[in-house]
Amino acid sequence: MTTTRDFNSPIRPTWCAGCGDFAIWNAIKSALVQLDRAPTEAVLCFDIGCNGNMADKINAYVFKGLHGRVIPVAVGIKLANQNLPVIAIGGDGGILDEGINHLIHTIRSNYDITLILHNNCDFGLTTGQATPTTPTGQKMNSSAHGVVEDRLNPTQLVLGLNPSFVAKGFSADQTHLTQLTAQAIQHKGFSYLEVLQHCPTYNKFMDQEWYKERVYKVKEDNSYDPTNLENAYKLSSYNNDKIPLGILYQNKESLPFMQRIENQGSKKSLPGLIKQFS
Ligand code: SF4
Ligand code: MG
Repeated sequence: MTTTRDFNSPIRPTWCAGCGDFAIWNAIKSALVQLDRAPTEAVLCFDIGCNGNMADKINAYVFKGLHGRVIPVAVGIKLANQNLPVIAIGGDGGILDEGINHLIHTIRSNYDITLILHNNCDFGLTTGQATPTTPTGQKMNSSAHGVVEDRLNPTQLVLGLNPSFVAKGFSADQTHLTQLTAQAIQHKGFSYLEVLQHCPTYNKFMDQEWYKERVYKVKEDNSYDPTNLENAYKLSSYNNDKIPLGILYQNKESLPFMQRIENQGSKKSLPGLIKQFS
């Protein structure tokens, strides 16, 4: 039986004290243990950022690539070996700024990978610049007079693209985050798990207490129905006082990319070609 110790590497984390990355790191390891996966039975992909520094702090198959390009790396690995769960791990800067095109097309294709988005509303590694999720007007290191762009709502963006799995977790609730991570990995198709991540060094405007006053389990909402896309969109509005946590939407009927290809029935399908050349 695998334990979380099996996923520990000898390299210790260097994140700031109180950083939400610790909880996400532990949640990923615990979720893989819950799913009875050994370190050789999972692939974790990273790019550049504080979250990307997790790459050598976890013992599994790991690939670290360019900033904002973690999704295509993960998709490529999944297409080459469909037996392994592939998890892409990125931040709000890399995924929603440089790499947002990859997010959109992966949702359309419904590639069978999991994305764990560390959303701390800043670029942490480069010392606190604004990302697309930084609130408008917020003063940041790159925006001395306040962010002038409108704030992106990534949950609503994803929900607007007819996704197959959308969930939101909070780095101060590691038990719930572990459950969501396991559910996201188990989902057949693209699973989007956004984590509201505390960055005590550069995000003092939405600190842990700010989130604790607002988050709630979406299952407690009377209107909750994880098959209702429109309702999930409404619940995810920035205009609401409260922030729902949990599986906001899941469509178990949406076929993953490889199944769509297989259903075309051509002998020259991608799985056939991969088999032919492997
Ligand atoms: Fe964590 Fe923020 Fe420190 Fe980066 S800068 S390690 S995100 S607390
Ligand atoms: Mg960030």
